[in-house]
Amino acid sequence: MKKIAIIGGGISGLYFANLLNNQKDFEYKIFEKKDNFNFLEGYGIQLSVNSIKLLNSIGFKNISASEVSFPSKVNFIQANNSKKICDIDLTQFNDYSNRYTTLKRSTLLKFLFQNTPQEKINFNSNITKVDTSNGIRIFFGDNKNEEFDYLIISDGIFSKTRSLIFNESIYPKYNLNVALRGKLKGDFDSDISIYMGSNSHYVIYPVNQNNEYNFVAIIKKKLSSDELKNYDLFKSDEFLASLVSGLQKTSQINEENLSELKSFPVYVSSGFTSLNKKNIFLSGDALFTFPPSFAQGASQSIETANDILKCILSGSNDIYEKRIKHIYSIKKKSAFNLFSFHLSNPFNVYFRNIALRYLSRNKIFLDNYLGKIYKN
Ligand SMILES: Cc1cc2nc3c(=O)[nH]c(=O)nc-3n(C[C@H](O)[C@H](O)[C@H](O)COP(=O)(O)OP(=O)(O)OC[C@H]3O[C@@H](n4cnc5c(N)ncnc54)[C@H](O)[C@@H]3O)c2cc1C
Repeated sequence: MKKIAIIGGGISGLYFANLLNNQKDFEYKIFEKKDNFNFLEGYGIQLSVNSIKLLNSIGFKNISASEVSFPSKVNFIQANNSKKICDIDLTQFNDYSNRYTTLKRSTLLKFLFQNTPQEKINFNSNITKVDTSNGIRIFFGDNKNEEFDYLIISDGIFSKTRSLIFNESIYPKYNLNVALRGKLKGDFDSDISIYMGSNSHYVIYPVNQNNEYNFVAIIKKKLSSDELKNYDLFKSDEFLASLVSGLQKTSQINEENLSELKSFPVYVSSGFTSLNKKNIFLSGDALFTFPPSFAQGASQSIETANDILKCILSGSNDIYEKRIKHIYSIKKKSAFNLFSFHLSNPFNVYFRNIALRYLSRNKIFLDNYLGKIYKN
């Protein structure tokens, strides 16, 4: 029986654990830093068909229909006048049993958690050292240590385990944007709406069938290194209010229906860590963190975890190397989306809108730009 350590019980780590439940030649342990999971969080997540297909194969299709939503379009709207520019039909990428899905992030985590035997999850884990000189030995803060055959590092963007093992310093970079998240209650569109403004954009979509919606804005903001380290700044009412008031919002959004606002600086990966250690894999945001303008972080985390298992089973790294190329192409598209969503010069906005109207109906473009990712 081979032993696998999974560091981090986020989307990637828990999904990988779910895959291992069907593998009788492997046993695993999850090491999670937190003391528990919070399944009350209401923020949303979009999952495209590529990850839904993988999730459905482990039973996600049986989740209650009231806990998810199936948007059929992405609407592109000009934020300063709330006029719709065009839309993209998402159903063209769906198939009979797999549909583009929006939901609460906590709904997904709860599903993955419920299918994981509780004795396999070690909360409050504090990994202090990983010795890879002869196999893989993990050392913990309580002076214990344990040996494993494989190590899956899925402890998120600021992965401590990655820096314990790999010497190069590839730190995530602040990408000059702040994210503002909140919950919206009311009677909004059942599709995904992207409002594009000057140096900012925001996205609204339903997270279930109970008139609850996710609100996420990405706002360009230069911040000093002191400001970036000041966690209180991002929580302060004054800062949150300044972010909200700076947005060109539709009148449908107001103080009464927008709640639980949170802000945080957006960090993205600046490169890939060279993966030169046998039987050690990086997954999810620990492998690569995208700008949040393609809504692919979670979907790619799931795909990567799936590929890692294929590598372990086949004993080859080829699939993993292909995945890195794929991730690189999504990174470029995410950065391009962010650039075009934030245009401010009226001349550029005018031509962007013409291009969007044309491209949103162009099957060849859509198949290349989205289909290659969604139908992967
Ligand atoms: C504003 C915003 C909007 C987004 N929207 C979308 C979207 O709509 N669709 C989408 O697909 N993606 C979206 N993403 C991206 C997505 O949330 C992430 O890519 C995804 O959560 C990554 O999963 P993960 O498992 O790698 O990391 P995480 O979900 O961050 O999980 C990491 C886990 O590791 C644990 N951990 C951390 N350090 C340690 C340690 N030292 N030891 C042990 N455990 C540790 C953490 O507590 C956590 O449980 C968005 C991201 C942002 C910022």
